Amino acid sequence: MLVKQVWRILTNPQSMLAKVLKARYFPHSDIFHAQMGPRPSYTWRSINHSKWVLQKGGCWTVGNGMNVKVWEDNWIPSLNGWKKLWKLTIPPRNQVLLWRIIHNIVPVRLNLNNRGVRCSILCPICAKASETIDHVFMKCQKSKKVWLGAQKGLYLSQGNMQFKDWLFYHLEHSDTDTMALIAYRGVKMDGFDGFGLDC
Ligand SMILES: [Zn+2]
Repeated sequence: MLVKQVWRILTNPQSMLAKVLKARYFPHSDIFHAQMGPRPSYTWRSINHSKWVLQKGGCWTVGNGMNVKVWEDNWIPSLNGWKKLWKLTIPPRNQVLLWRIIHNIVPVRLNLNNRGVRCSILCPICAKASETIDHVFMKCQKSKKVWLGAQKGLYLSQGNMQFKDWLFYHLEHSDTDTMALIAYRGVKMDGFDGFGLDC
């Protein structure tokens, strides 16, 4: 997964790939400031195209423009959250699902409609509300049951909090066991495996 590659380069600047890419494409800056450069390799093109995800999701801050912090592993909290996510010993599918939720790229019906796929936007389970990420993972009867059965006092705020914010909160503040549990529960609610669109 490309985002993971970007992540590896960030967290492990001593790796061979990180060293090679840095020497060639961003010797005097960091990956977030790197240009595509002339005749980029396929690997670099792909990685460079993917880095925005971490930039966006990780609330990257550049500070005074120095890149020292990047290489000294001095992360702002949400990047620690990402680090925790990729380190969890859970199936990659579960990690990717959480990642997709945070980036709102789960193919729920409302998202599909917004992207031009013509289908009903109603939740196929309860048919009472639009099928959004918040609905599928937080508000639908099915998801409520799943969370009720979860241990560890996980509880979903019913206020204005979006599910992705709740997820982000736990990425930041929960231990890895709790995160793994959330991931497993999340997959239980996810009917989108393999993007089999049933609308
Ligand atoms: Zn529903």
